[in-house]
Amino acid sequence: MADIFQTTLRQVKTAAGYLKLKPAVLKKLSTPNKIINKKVSLKLDNGKEKKVEVYRVQFNNARGPYKGGIRFHPQANLDEVKTLALLMAIKCAVVNIPMGGGKGGAKVDPKKLSLAEVERLARAWVKAFKNNLGPSVDVPAPDVYTNPQIMDWMTDEYSKLIGKKSLAAFTGKSLANGGSLGRETATAQGGVYVLQEYLKKNKLPGKKSAPSGAEGMTVAIQGFGNAGYHAGQLLHTAGFKLVALSDSQGGISDLNNNGMNPEFVMNSKKEHGQIHSCYCTGSVCDCVNYQPISNQKLLELPVDVLVLAALEDQVNKKNAGRVKAKIILELANGGINPDTDHLLEKNGVTILPDVLANAGGVTVSYFEWLQNKKNQRWTKAQVVAKLKTIMVKSFTDVWALKTKANLTAREAAFVLAIKRIVEAMR
Ligand code: NAD
Repeated sequence: MADIFQTTLRQVKTAAGYLKLKPAVLKKLSTPNKIINKKVSLKLDNGKEKKVEVYRVQFNNARGPYKGGIRFHPQANLDEVKTLALLMAIKCAVVNIPMGGGKGGAKVDPKKLSLAEVERLARAWVKAFKNNLGPSVDVPAPDVYTNPQIMDWMTDEYSKLIGKKSLAAFTGKSLANGGSLGRETATAQGGVYVLQEYLKKNKLPGKKSAPSGAEGMTVAIQGFGNAGYHAGQLLHTAGFKLVALSDSQGGISDLNNNGMNPEFVMNSKKEHGQIHSCYCTGSVCDCVNYQPISNQKLLELPVDVLVLAALEDQVNKKNAGRVKAKIILELANGGINPDTDHLLEKNGVTILPDVLANAGGVTVSYFEWLQNKKNQRWTKAQVVAKLKTIMVKSFTDVWALKTKANLTAREAAFVLAIKRIVEAMR
């Protein structure tokens, strides 16, 4: 997506127009506080050195420390990291947690690295940014192709560099190293709460009344990593019928039968290609019980719910007119090109936008940070109950504004968030 940052800035501008903000305020909201872009040297197992481009963008900290994940991906780039940092500032404000927005990355294909090389990269990333991190400054977390193991290495490296244990410097850690119960499933769980709240209050086209349960509602999921797999598990358990799943290597479908069991698919994927504790080269396509489907076809299936849980710009100007899902649960950051929101909504597609739908992840990251700072450990029931309260309240606030002001769901979320950020800036 060539102009992903400019597209997101247009959302900020629309919200600023609605709130009648002065140009100077809009400029401040649209400009990252700090962009750090470096090259680190990664020592490979064969003794050679590889230069890797690494990024951290600190967008806005008016409401609290910068917060946002680190992505290891061959296509990572500054425009993407800037966009994701801005979305983090908006997201934290939508769910009203006292955090700002940041994001980081490394331009690398981590699946081509050994476990030892991934560890050295994680530690090199921390060394590169150590002066800009810390529990009250900037608190990173996992994102695409980073995980609790990588956060543990990063926390350890940061603690060594500053000479004291600093668990609250990173979130998304393993449970043994200060992680929070419920963090692994939080993004998906938050999204499922938003979906269920929407379904409680709205009648789906073609259904006689708002469904009290999920029986018979069909779901397709693009992306079968942390967000997509757990969303699949939670929806399957709640009675939804999973009819299609995909990952970077392709997709599978079960359109005419009883739906798929995500755990069964994940086991096939792992059996066929676990590289090491960090990555799996297997694919949902390794599960031979189902029919193949292309990612493009999956996006256009006439399902009740389409879950986007992969990368940006998957629903865009080229395919938005062909989307037949009744609801899109946008767990992926920027999964829908926002320029297509009006067309989708006009075509009867309800969008549960990323800055609301995937905010469960950062919310439980915030809980983890709080637990680390207070030296506490909350039970899973406590975490899930607090998460539910926040997600239901955030959905209710966004939908009330959307309805009152006749905005798209994303516009309403941006207005709500920017109002809060500007209050803090003042
Ligand atoms: P992940 O690395 O665990 O999984 C990503 C999945 O997407 C993998 O299954 C990968 O194969 C698949 N994928 C990649 N390219 C694809 C393509 N072209 N088509 C179909 N599938 C493709 O990452 P994740 O943490 O699950 O993140 C997924 C999305 O959710 C990202 O946009 C991320 O920013 C967003 N998100 C994640 C969290 C979180 O807590 N993990 C929180 C908020 C937002």
